[in-house]
Amino acid sequence: MRALSPSGVNLLQTCEFAYDYRYNQESTSKQMTPDYYAGGRLFHRWADTYGKHLITTDRPFDQEQAEIIAGTMPEGVPLDLYEDIQQRFLWWAKDTTFRNPAQTRTEMKLAFDANGNEVEWDSPAAAIRMIIDKVEFIDGELLITDYKTGRQIKPINELAGKTYTYGVYLKVGGKFTKIRYIEEYLRHNYTQELEITEEDFKAIPKFYAGIAKKIEAKTEWGTRVSGKCVDCEAAHVCAAYKAEVEANDLAINNDDEAVALAQKIFTSLDRLGKGKEMLKAYSDVHGAIRFGDQEFGPVQKNKVIWTDLGDLLIYLTDNNGEALDLNQISKGLSLTGPGLAKIFMKTGLKGDDLETKMMGIIGVQGTVKTSTSFTFHKVKT
Ligand code: SF4
Repeated sequence: MRALSPSGVNLLQTCEFAYDYRYNQESTSKQMTPDYYAGGRLFHRWADTYGKHLITTDRPFDQEQAEIIAGTMPEGVPLDLYEDIQQRFLWWAKDTTFRNPAQTRTEMKLAFDANGNEVEWDSPAAAIRMIIDKVEFIDGELLITDYKTGRQIKPINELAGKTYTYGVYLKVGGKFTKIRYIEEYLRHNYTQELEITEEDFKAIPKFYAGIAKKIEAKTEWGTRVSGKCVDCEAAHVCAAYKAEVEANDLAINNDDEAVALAQKIFTSLDRLGKGKEMLKAYSDVHGAIRFGDQEFGPVQKNKVIWTDLGDLLIYLTDNNGEALDLNQISKGLSLTGPGLAKIFMKTGLKGDDLETKMMGIIGVQGTVKTSTSFTFHKVKT
């Protein structure tokens, strides 16, 4: 029987074609992982390392350790993605308390066969697989937490809640006064939760067996164009999505249409890349689009690209560092222009002196790259 996970079933129910591409096609491994998934994976890895550290040291939180964990950029991760996830992770760690580290487990990776026996993750007998972000036993309650790194808040995933509870029961058993399945949205400081009873997960093995049977019998995989397409890893081979994009390749003709689209994009949690592209194309020609005290338009940004960050740190401490603290300088791998200015300001430099020193260092150790990004921002008066 085919091994299924809650996310696999979810994908199948959203779009069969996308499911087939991810789980059945060999070419999947050749594709680039979308940033959406890579960021989620990075966060989960750090959260697991951090959680295990708290459990072993029996501490409820440890901000310093969180900074160490997120302080190294993993190979192959784009800088923008690294900085984004680093910020999410540090915010999350700052607000997170492990209430009972001795009774907490992170990243529980479990696989069971059709009869509910635990099997190896890769076992051909595996029928249900799951990775549970955090399991806690607190004051008689069982708390199962799933971290969500996506931008869009979705209805709570009941199947995931029931499946994880089923897995924890098979693994550790126990009687609980309450079982709570919690989804924690890291970008929104938002949680949603569901209470689960033993009755709720009784039917889980049967449910997965039924889905596996349907999949085995399938010969065609239908497409379903939806909001999911924007992040879909199969989009480049999906004729339905291509047709939909071509059919809707709208141009914005006037301010009203631009405002309507902008409001739709910026007031929903969905960030539709295509909508943003259309706004950009419009404001390229007509200038910033205003609504109220907000506008969408071009903003010039200066970014310092350092030739080699290691060399820069040595240069700073060797040649200019009398009053500088190395810890301060090296906070974060991506030392930015404003970051460097702040460090120098602490040594008393300001105004022209600060500017001259900054430009001097940038001249030797890096270059300034000016880029234009299109963002939604307050109108400058
Ligand atoms: S692009 Fe949309 S319709 Fe096509 S496979 Fe992906 S989710 Fe399905």
